[in-house]
Amino acid sequence: MKALHPAALTGDGIFRIHWLLGTDRLLAVCHCGAERQFEDPEEVWDWLLGHPEDHHPGTAVEPGGSRPTRPRPHPAPA
Ligand SMILES: [Zn+2]
Repeated sequence: MKALHPAALTGDGIFRIHWLLGTDRLLAVCHCGAERQFEDPEEVWDWLLGHPEDHHPGTAVEPGGSRPTRPRPHPAPA
């Protein structure tokens, strides 16, 4: 079976941003595998370029894209 679309770029340093058709939302996919939905393109880039800050690879984004209110760990500097 032949793929209908060319393979998406993957690997280190590759970010992907998907426009979710029919919505105003953007799905950002980091090269580490983390995904998150945004409405503001500026927030998309802030998040992607802030890698690995706040990235949780393999964590699925819940429908609606509501941001989990999990406290962020603050490791003390050694
Ligand atoms: Zn990342």
